[in-house]
Amino acid sequence: MHLRICHLYPDLMNLYGDGGNVLAVLQRCRWRGIETDVSGVSLGDVLDFRRFDIIFMGGGQDSEQRAVAADLQMKKGESIRETVEDGAVVLTICGGYQLFGQSYTTAEGEELPGIGVFDARTFPGKGRLTGNVVVESLTGDNDGTLVGFENHGGRTYLGPDTEPIGRVLIGGGNNGEDGLEGGRYLNAYGTYLHGSLLPKNPRFADRLIEAALTRRYGSMELTPLDDMLEHIAHKAAVRRAGQTRR
Ligand code: GLN
Repeated sequence: MHLRICHLYPDLMNLYGDGGNVLAVLQRCRWRGIETDVSGVSLGDVLDFRRFDIIFMGGGQDSEQRAVAADLQMKKGESIRETVEDGAVVLTICGGYQLFGQSYTTAEGEELPGIGVFDARTFPGKGRLTGNVVVESLTGDNDGTLVGFENHGGRTYLGPDTEPIGRVLIGGGNNGEDGLEGGRYLNAYGTYLHGSLLPKNPRFADRLIEAALTRRYGSMELTPLDDMLEHIAHKAAVRRAGQTRR
């Protein structure tokens, strides 16, 4: 078995350890004897995304998002949307999540177009939402929670075609108002949780790997791993979020 992973803009969109999500997927595959390869894809590259099983994009600052938004519109958006419709797995974090929505309006009020994988629009808010986040996962992960770290000025509002990935227990989430965090459309996920997210939310990591394998090879159940350390890390992060609650 072999999974092909696309890391979008690793040189521009990689805040707060987001690249660790790719490492976590690679390591969890390696432990199970699943082969992987990673293609870094950046500005100006033109390719057919349908050959990928997992597409990942991290967060970035407004200046980087401006360049990336233009590049996504010109070269890549349509192929990514087709690949999502075909069931490929996507994980986008913060700035990546925003640009996979319909639009992202920067702190300066410039509206950047998104590629519309998610039915979501993002607008600037007052101040930034920064700190540890705990989310009651609507996708049944770990002890029922996802944990991470957020730092964003944008406030994201979901439309009817995208469901949230969770309800905020601690932190701001999509917009600090409606109690929702993240977005999901088919096997595409977007979230504000940096951190890295996947090393300390191992069930969520496996959900992505399992969905990618199922798409390529048909129904698939992953061999469980000894996740004692990952669960200790998850619990410690949840505890710390409680102590540093804003
Ligand atoms: N620049 C975006 C914002 O501030 C995204 C930030 C991020 O990716 N952490 O909302």
